Amino acid sequence: MTLSLREIVGSRFSHLTVISAYRDEKSRIKCLTQCDCGRQKECFYTNLKAGRTRSCGHLEREYRESCIEMTGQQFGELTVLGKTMHRKEGCIVWQCRCSCGEEIYVSRRQLIRGYVTACPHHKLKQLIGQRFNELIVLKFSENGEEVFCRCSCGKQLWVGKGNLLRGHTKSCGHLALADNLPRVDGVVTCALRRKMPKNNTSGVTGISQTRDGRWAAYLTFKGTRHSLGLFDDKEEAVRQRKNAERKYFEPYLQKEQSQKDAS
Ligand SMILES: [Zn+2]
Ligand SMILES: [Zn+2]
Ligand SMILES: [Zn+2]
Repeated sequence: MTLSLREIVGSRFSHLTVISAYRDEKSRIKCLTQCDCGRQKECFYTNLKAGRTRSCGHLEREYRESCIEMTGQQFGELTVLGKTMHRKEGCIVWQCRCSCGEEIYVSRRQLIRGYVTACPHHKLKQLIGQRFNELIVLKFSENGEEVFCRCSCGKQLWVGKGNLLRGHTKSCGHLALADNLPRVDGVVTCALRRKMPKNNTSGVTGISQTRDGRWAAYLTFKGTRHSLGLFDDKEEAVRQRKNAERKYFEPYLQKEQSQKDAS
């Protein structure tokens, strides 16, 4: 045997590069090769030399696969649009469209084995626009760990996804704050006072002008918006609002006062 094993290492045969070589018990040269697709394969040197072994097997698999049509097939959220020239680990990569509209590239193996059934952030995307207690999801971070939310109070903030989904984070913090505010029968009384209009000019709480120039009066109490009617006259709308405040708010404010007086 004149051929040195060291000479073989590094030589290339079609898609395979020899990374190590040794003689087996029958003195045949066996090679460990690295395929262009990333896989390793052990084979006889004679087969490499003769061109009988040209890849890890991905060429044959590709050929078999190329005869299989997957276009139109459905895998979870994905619909296969068509074959591409790309290969991943020796498998044909298919262009797919997710039910959310995003197009991604997935290999046959990933599809068949169910490794990929939707676009990368599909579940997260479903959260956008959804409400979790006081928070509405607007977008999510690159790594998908955090979501950007708008709180019912108007404040916008990043929240950990897990905390949001598990209900650990319910608001920007204003809820936790409200929990410590004095209440009368469960109603935060200082919030009622804040809702009370200070004057009769424009910008009065609970009064808004409609497109046809009329005035709508409303009052929000215990999470419910009570419509108080539409009025041609703004003064009248304000009067109705004040009446409603008296009806809904006063009992709580009076009770608070009497509690204070008593203590
Ligand atoms: Zn290969
Ligand atoms: Zn998707
Ligand atoms: Zn808030």
